[in-house]
Amino acid sequence: MHNDLEKIFNCTRCGFCCQGEVTVSLTKDDQAKMVTCLGKKESEVRQKYWKLNGSIVQMKTVDGHCIFYDNGCMVHLGRPWRCAQWPLVPVLLSDKVNFETIKDSCPGINRELSYEKFCRLLIRYLDHHKNAVC
Ligand code: SF4
Ligand code: SF4
Repeated sequence: MHNDLEKIFNCTRCGFCCQGEVTVSLTKDDQAKMVTCLGKKESEVRQKYWKLNGSIVQMKTVDGHCIFYDNGCMVHLGRPWRCAQWPLVPVLLSDKVNFETIKDSCPGINRELSYEKFCRLLIRYLDHHKNAVC
């Protein structure tokens, strides 16, 4: 239900979630999707855009933000699933403190809704999309 999504969240493209020296980790599926989206050889993508944190593959950062951030995500269709999920993460539902913390960092979350109403709409949205493939 896209209507539920619009009621709880509209991304302002502020870019705050793409800032910082730490980026999300990429699963094998994320890596394959990103390589396909970029239309480059995996070795080139790996060398140019990814870094290793131990055995975990993450995106490189440039000037304190994800290497793909440039007034928006430059790999939008091939972004990692965690980026696509943000900020509608399950921990929002488990604790109001999580909700307030994430809301403080993400201006896209509807400030007009009570926590209870937000949760009801998010549960309905997640339930409707649990079998969907992003
Ligand atoms: S912080 Fe929220 S509103 Fe800003 S770009 Fe990220 S998801 Fe969108
Ligand atoms: S992949 Fe895109 S959405 Fe994810 S952190 Fe980088 S710029 Fe932001």
